[in-house]
Amino acid sequence: MQGLQKTLASASMPTLAYELHGNCYINLTNHCTLRCAFCPKFNKQWDVKGYGLRLKSEPEVQEILAAIGDPTAYKEIVFCGLGEPTLRLTELLNIASQLKQQGASIRLNTDGLANAVYKKDVTPLFKGCIDALSISLNAHNEELYNLHCRPLIKNAFNELLAFITAAKKQIPDITLTAIEGLPGVSIPACEKIASRLGVKFRPRILDEVG
Ligand code: SF4
Repeated sequence: MQGLQKTLASASMPTLAYELHGNCYINLTNHCTLRCAFCPKFNKQWDVKGYGLRLKSEPEVQEILAAIGDPTAYKEIVFCGLGEPTLRLTELLNIASQLKQQGASIRLNTDGLANAVYKKDVTPLFKGCIDALSISLNAHNEELYNLHCRPLIKNAFNELLAFITAAKKQIPDITLTAIEGLPGVSIPACEKIASRLGVKFRPRILDEVG
């Protein structure tokens, strides 16, 4: 908590870890595999719930750990900033392992495109250090996914579905999410995909951190 207070006290410093809902959220990177049309950062909005998430540079592992402080003070530690945490996979796993050893519960919020980025199945690396995955589905078909999420890699929607199947073999607690109100997107159809893949589903409200 002390680390978070220190971060908030200095308005000019980017936020590396922030507290919401009794959880601690980690802002590991601003880089993304997607360019979501609804993303606050593409609408020049870098503040989320009063926390400035624009990073001047990629934070070091030790800086993140210092910003978190005692991880057991939170219900969950969640990798979730205005960027895709798996783009810094080495640092993500390093931080998660250290926090796990201290007894923290760890969740990764991801776009589910890590296997496409690294061109191999990286989900076995999550075992033992990530407790839960929250994966952004955001559309019930490829056309709408491409429209709203504007992926930088080809075949992203199918890559995402394949990632969910692979991750399920490693992490028992997986939730797919979709933002309510995106034009054309059917929340029940997204829920059906989650049910077909045997994972949980949660609708999200835009700009609400979860
Ligand atoms: S994945 Fe998240 S941070 Fe990245 S562009 Fe989409 S909404 Fe923004």
